[in-house]
Amino acid sequence: NKKVVLRRHVTGFPSEEDMEVVDDTVALRVPAGLKAVLIKNLYLSCDPWMCGRMSKHEDEASRPAPDFILGETLVNYGVGKVIDSTHPDFKAGELVWGMSGWEEYTLITHSHLFKINHTELPLSYYTGVLGMTGLTAYAGFLEVGRPKKGDFVFVSAASGAVGQVVGQLAKIAGCHVVGSAGTDEKVNLLKTKFGYDDAFNYKSETDIAAALKRRFPEGIDIYFDNVGGATLDAALLQMRRGGRVVVCGMISQYTLEKPDGLRNLFCIIPKAVRVEGFNVSGYFDVYGKFEEEMVRYIKEGKVAVVEDVAEGIEKAPAALVGLFSGRNVGKQLVELARE
Ligand code: NDP
Repeated sequence: NKKVVLRRHVTGFPSEEDMEVVDDTVALRVPAGLKAVLIKNLYLSCDPWMCGRMSKHEDEASRPAPDFILGETLVNYGVGKVIDSTHPDFKAGELVWGMSGWEEYTLITHSHLFKINHTELPLSYYTGVLGMTGLTAYAGFLEVGRPKKGDFVFVSAASGAVGQVVGQLAKIAGCHVVGSAGTDEKVNLLKTKFGYDDAFNYKSETDIAAALKRRFPEGIDIYFDNVGGATLDAALLQMRRGGRVVVCGMISQYTLEKPDGLRNLFCIIPKAVRVEGFNVSGYFDVYGKFEEEMVRYIKEGKVAVVEDVAEGIEKAPAALVGLFSGRNVGKQLVELARE
């Protein structure tokens, strides 16, 4: 059973050396007397929050979830196939997604495991557009952002797992949507594949405030923030009266020792802007509705999916680290096996 374990705590930017791939043996049966599901992992999801869990937090309030323990297997969302089960809701051969280990086989005793209903679509979609990041986009944009037809919407990290879905939901909702991303290839993808009305490369157009002013002469109604820092600061200046900032993530801040200060925070007062953070974990009760809608959009061609697939568990550490330099083009995942 090859697995990725935490070798040392992350400080600053995560590196491949913070992790190690090790091998051990595993019994391919649920131990007698235990209510559990043994799964073979097929696809692992790479998500920025994992690096937060790889750091050591002295202060519990600032950590995203309990810190990973040195020498233990990393944990995150994944897709798998049930090999053995003593749980009444799951049987061998079924396909599932949920919280799993970064390893070939995982024994699951928790309840954050769900059946895959649409096996006619690529199973890997359950790491992204039909999994946690798709639900994040859906809940964050629709429930927190509350779009109205004609709204002007800005999305950062717009070609990534969450951003690509937000942009397409914005188009479905009848909004005008502009995205930012870190390469020209991604900017092109935003305009040609995901239906963004406009997009810019924030690494070449470094005056983000000017870039936004040009693209939103009437201001921004909804800013879906995936990055925080300078982009958030620039967007605040450009917000419209009564606008909403959906604070989904702050990837530009996760690797800094001291977060960037925001100069334009005061804008939320005269513009009466609602700035609201959210955590997807609070929205799993709408998963069923989300899944049916998203499957329909995919089948109708209203939502396109771009994935970046690394092959083999040995590639998992590099794939995860790559999120912090923007190496991924689309939803980053690791394929361990197809069945
Ligand atoms: P992505 O697929 O978008 O991958 C991360 C991307 O972030 C990179 O490709 C890169 O794109 C961009 N990036 C990296 N470093 C920086 C930086 N310093 N400044 C600006 N952009 C940067 O990731 P996800 O879609 O999975 O996650 C997007 C955000 O959503 C993250 O902040 C994540 O933590 C958050 N999140 C929040 C959830 C919640 O419940 N609130 C749940 C899931 C995710 P580029 O090349 O364009 O710079």
